Amino acid sequence: MSNERTNLSAVIYGAYDLCMELREIPEPQVGEVQINVRATGICGSDIHYYKEGGIGPRRLSRDKPMILGHESAGVITKVGEGVRGLQIGDRVAIEPGRSCGVCARCREGRYNLCPDMKFSASLLQGPNDGTLREWVTFSATLCHKMPESMTFEEGALMEPLAVAVHSVRRTQVNIGDKVVVMGAGPIGLLVAAVARAQGAISITLLDINVSRLNLARTYLAPFPLQTIALTLKPRDSDEENLDWSQRIVAGLEGVGEADHVFECTGAETCVQMAVLLARRGGSVVLIGMGAGKQTLPVDVIGTREVDVKGNFRYANA
Ligand SMILES: [Zn+2]
Ligand SMILES: [Zn+2]
Repeated sequence: MSNERTNLSAVIYGAYDLCMELREIPEPQVGEVQINVRATGICGSDIHYYKEGGIGPRRLSRDKPMILGHESAGVITKVGEGVRGLQIGDRVAIEPGRSCGVCARCREGRYNLCPDMKFSASLLQGPNDGTLREWVTFSATLCHKMPESMTFEEGALMEPLAVAVHSVRRTQVNIGDKVVVMGAGPIGLLVAAVARAQGAISITLLDINVSRLNLARTYLAPFPLQTIALTLKPRDSDEENLDWSQRIVAGLEGVGEADHVFECTGAETCVQMAVLLARRGGSVVLIGMGAGKQTLPVDVIGTREVDVKGNFRYANA
């Protein structure tokens, strides 16, 4: 990254329509700091914007472009009026969501649910420009000082880690608990790591991608992570998804009866399996985002008192 005062920014206009542009360098307002971004992770949502030009009903357009990126860390280069506790040269991990701070949800501390949340690189309440650029400004309260031992790349990972911390807090994983994680992508991996740190004694990770499962075992070693490679439901199968899921779960040995299941794929069959793998009185946390309309075994949810919980980004993580 150059030290010239340009603000090279990755701007997305639509599917496969990404331009590197020089934008204005933002000046910090009252309570804000200016940050020279040193590392930015690419999130699944960035990939959706790049490949599909949007997420769900929200679409990019030529007259509504957006700077990508929301997993970033950098160095403070300017400090606005009224900022306390941060100074020029501080290395910080950025929390990239600007909530209103005054609504009922913000005031009860669940600011991730703020209806006016302006989250970086999201079209919700946006487009809100993201952090895949050289310079950004954020409220000082959203900048978290990094320990000296932490690299900028690790600092950028604090954002997806916050998702994992929040999801594990949504359901209170306790020492000795049995956990199942659907999906071995970055979030699934981080959820498994946080569940382990919370004291889960048994963690099983399921995915269709064997190399991801292999990486996960190395990542969590020496913890004896159990991994299971699932097969995709054949496209020409006319079996109902729920019947397929029930059949697959019935064939899995020693995996069910989980205290907590974290669903990190959003795929209908995985959401169904998540419910079926939870024990009586267990919980399912929905982290992955897939199709809005899905068939769930509500009889199982009802009679086994399975708590199905939503999960949206994070707060105070
Ligand atoms: Zn993300
Ligand atoms: Zn609010």
